[in-house]
Amino acid sequence: MSSSEDYTFVCSECGQSISVNEAMREALVENGCAVCGSPVSETDFEAKTDFEAEAASDS
Ligand SMILES: [Zn+2]
Repeated sequence: MSSSEDYTFVCSECGQSISVNEAMREALVENGCAVCGSPVSETDFEAKTDFEAEAASDS
């Protein structure tokens, strides 16, 4: 089960939101934002996990 898009990247500079996989994530961190070219850090990515959102809400 290899989903091709495992993270959501949101550029803190230009606001561009892109779905990326692990390899693309590493490329963005190395090369910067594909849209505006500003530096990208690992904190600009959100892993796509549905159950994590559920765990965050405590009833
Ligand atoms: Zn950007």
